[in-house]
Amino acid sequence: MKLDLKATRAAAAKIKFRTKAFIDGKFVKAQSGRTYDSINPATGRVLASIAACDEADVDKAVAAARRSFEKGVWAKRPPSERKRVLLQFADLIEKHLDELALLDCLDAGKPITDCLTMDLPDTVHCFRWHAEAVDKEYERVAPTGPDNVALIVREPLGVVGAILPWNFPIQMAAWKLGPMLATGNSVVVKPARQTSLSVLRLAELAMEAGLPEGVLNVVTGDGSRIGAALCRHMDVDAVAFTGSTEVGRQLLSYSAESNLKRIVLELGGKNPQVVLEDAPDLDYVAIQACNSVFWNMGENCSSGSRLIVHRKLKERLLAKMIEVSREWIVGDPLDPKTRIGPMIERSHMEKVLGYIESGRKEGARVVIGGKRTLERTGGFFVEPTIFDDVRPTMTIAREEIFGPVLSVFTFDTEAQAITLANDTPYGLTASVYTRNVNTAHRVARALRAGTVSVNCFSEGDITTPFGGFKQSGFFGRDKSIFAHHQYTELKTVWMQLVQGT
Ligand code: NAD
Repeated sequence: MKLDLKATRAAAAKIKFRTKAFIDGKFVKAQSGRTYDSINPATGRVLASIAACDEADVDKAVAAARRSFEKGVWAKRPPSERKRVLLQFADLIEKHLDELALLDCLDAGKPITDCLTMDLPDTVHCFRWHAEAVDKEYERVAPTGPDNVALIVREPLGVVGAILPWNFPIQMAAWKLGPMLATGNSVVVKPARQTSLSVLRLAELAMEAGLPEGVLNVVTGDGSRIGAALCRHMDVDAVAFTGSTEVGRQLLSYSAESNLKRIVLELGGKNPQVVLEDAPDLDYVAIQACNSVFWNMGENCSSGSRLIVHRKLKERLLAKMIEVSREWIVGDPLDPKTRIGPMIERSHMEKVLGYIESGRKEGARVVIGGKRTLERTGGFFVEPTIFDDVRPTMTIAREEIFGPVLSVFTFDTEAQAITLANDTPYGLTASVYTRNVNTAHRVARALRAGTVSVNCFSEGDITTPFGGFKQSGFFGRDKSIFAHHQYTELKTVWMQLVQGT
């Protein structure tokens, strides 16, 4: 696809949407026949009518997954064969990269350039990495006495649910499905109500790649209904969830009320970017810091929404960040020049604007942005916004805004910076900027976060685990070989060597 607005609009107009649930290898209507409208957040208009599944559809999807698991059509295949199918799957995603990128762009309002250069390449790489890993891990033999042999082996969990958020629709699907499928599980996916289109197409491509029927199922619709049904289901062995801390908390109670299924949670964040007095090149820091908070419209769990900067640097850094912010063009996500698309839906835009209002009321000062924009398009756009003079007790300092809104704080000593950075119930990511490698190590170890980046904003790559401390997560990690372990059970096979035989 040529990267200009005319070409992306023309390509988008030709896309065919898959709108039914995907169960047991087929697209099917919801058994009730009901549908709901998915809205294009850049226009406010209906994009597609999607199957509104309910508990009966969840039961059907779980039964299909269970049948495929018990038959062993996937779980019992040699790892090298699972690898072959998943590599073929990755190739097909790559072949349809433009189409899948456009689906996320239209459905989630994500800038097309981000979809084409980040989300989709990351998705392909993620499936390839997990596929390649499966026939390279060895099991263990325990250090027993000479009369015993004890094998410690990992086995797939069985039927696993994946509940996804709307901010990275296909990429979060890959982070879950890569390790779940690589380790031999059968899966029921529930994409976010707002963003089902790319995941439905993904399921179709998985079948084309040779994934057996029933191994990957997709149910679409309302989270509080079908997400909850999946989590309460007595025949689901685990659910992995990415979403808000509030809903994640409910999942733990669903598990306790039902069959004690394993729950893996990747949740929210209120992530600090600590700029120490000896930070390198402030031009560079300004670019990184803006990227951290404005990328993906700030609809990002790892968004660096709190800038904690040494008092002596603040004015200079802020001036540079205001300049850099102007390069974050808000506009039609189909336009390759756009860097900030709309908020996912009207109610979310109103929530973000509500936070901006609360910041003003509580005495913080807007230094750039602060308003809704491009209203004539019908879309839900918010300007990139920076607040100065923020106090740690203010609402904007404490709650996850999930929009392009930065709060700036100052400190005088390293100890104050660390206290401010850790003063949050979350602990997902953090950045620290310094020229001194000793300081970098000391501060990185003092920050209570799952990923700490030094002199950059980064979530690492597929080889590094991603997940949160404190109320940013529970139990597991996405990405890396650690993600394989959480979708397997550990089994001991204890053998007695019988003398004389
Ligand atoms: P959300 O919690 O509203 O929804 C997430 C998913 O859960 C959706 O599929 C939704 O339909 C479903 N759901 C809603 N209610 C449910 C219920 N009662 N039972 C079961 N499922 C239910 O979150 P969101 O608004 O889609 O996503 C934004 C949140 O996700 C933010 O808090 C963000 O920080 C977090 N997030 C975290 C990570 C991470 O890796 N830690 C990554 C991306 C997003």
